[in-house]
Amino acid sequence: MASGEPSTSEVPPGAGTTVGGKHSKRKSDIMSLDYCTFRVPYNELNVKFRNGQKDLDRAAASVARAANLLTKKTAGATEPQAKEALQKNFEFLLKQVQEARAAMQKVLKEETEEADKIIRRCHMLQQEQQVNEDRPKRIDRSLEKRKFARHICWHLLRCGMIVPAKKLVAEMKMEGLVDISIFEKFYEIEQALLDKDTKPCIEWCQYHRHRLRKIGSRIEVVARQQDIATLVEEQNIPEALAYIKKYFVPITKTQFPDDLKKIMGSVAMPLEISRMRNKELHAENRYEACYEFFIKEAYRLYQLPEHSAFSSIVQMGIAAQKTAMCEPDTKTPTNKQRCVVCRPDIWPLAEGLPNARSDGNKILCSLSNTVCNDEDNIPYLFPSGHVVGLRAINAGLRRANHKVYDPMHKQEIMEEEALRMYFM
Ligand SMILES: [Zn+2]
Repeated sequence: MASGEPSTSEVPPGAGTTVGGKHSKRKSDIMSLDYCTFRVPYNELNVKFRNGQKDLDRAAASVARAANLLTKKTAGATEPQAKEALQKNFEFLLKQVQEARAAMQKVLKEETEEADKIIRRCHMLQQEQQVNEDRPKRIDRSLEKRKFARHICWHLLRCGMIVPAKKLVAEMKMEGLVDISIFEKFYEIEQALLDKDTKPCIEWCQYHRHRLRKIGSRIEVVARQQDIATLVEEQNIPEALAYIKKYFVPITKTQFPDDLKKIMGSVAMPLEISRMRNKELHAENRYEACYEFFIKEAYRLYQLPEHSAFSSIVQMGIAAQKTAMCEPDTKTPTNKQRCVVCRPDIWPLAEGLPNARSDGNKILCSLSNTVCNDEDNIPYLFPSGHVVGLRAINAGLRRANHKVYDPMHKQEIMEEEALRMYFM
């Protein structure tokens, strides 16, 4: 077997990707690669529907209250009512109705926007997945390019690179296909937390409270713990107690009693003892830890997988090429490197990945890209390190006096110098 030669298949290199690409058009690809493309707008639609429903209920109750006031004054009245008083009541009712109508329109608009986004993404994926022989190759290529740009964009966003991601979206005309806004929100919350400000984080928790409760998340508890810890550090016990009573007890009493006990303990005991017993409540990096926990919970809320599709694809691609002989090759210039894994710029990514394990490997002829065999296309190893099949040698490399031309080193070599390779 050719040592150091990456395992290859009959698909010539560059003929298409195995994930996505024209060699794979399976529905399961959408599920695994584009999960977040649907999951995020679905979640947004869900939260907008729930919050909108609450707004509508509130508006309806206000209208009912205003109508009640008016009815009370007029129904069963035996004496004439002052015109001004009635007009005031009527105007109040009118205002409530107008507000209810505005709330209704706002909710409707937001929900339609999210639904449209999902429909648009469905069309996009359908277009990408469709195998259409009549479609010009140019369009196939641009669809493929857009797909990879989308995955790169998701990866950039997860790394916190909002500005490059936005540029990529504009460049590839992918507006509405990637949810940049939720990552902008994450970034805003991160910056605030690093500034020791929990307000945006708590607002986010309240906006998503329904789903957070459903997944049993402690994020609001952790964020509010920071505020209480700050008050305890300042030894502002009355304020800390008021805060706990107003905000902390309602969210912890039934779901997280241990957190409540712990925070009450830290308020009750002297600061020095609390610092010793509740190290994480007084730790210096507690706001950073809070942000890390927030991001974990936010990904859980949107059901985003731990690794982006892009990083999984890249790692899979590298691992599929990695052999036990691979090591960083700093001698060969990058444009002459034959093994992608051995490139010094790729090696740091490849180092921790497992080696590819494949049975029945094939040897490819470096010149013709044909598969070598033990019959008419026997592989020969040239001194340049390249393997050439017998067919290519017979097709024009033979020279007089038992010599063979080596096209890589551009010189003639003796026949014996090309070593015959054997399949094990
Ligand atoms: Zn290698």
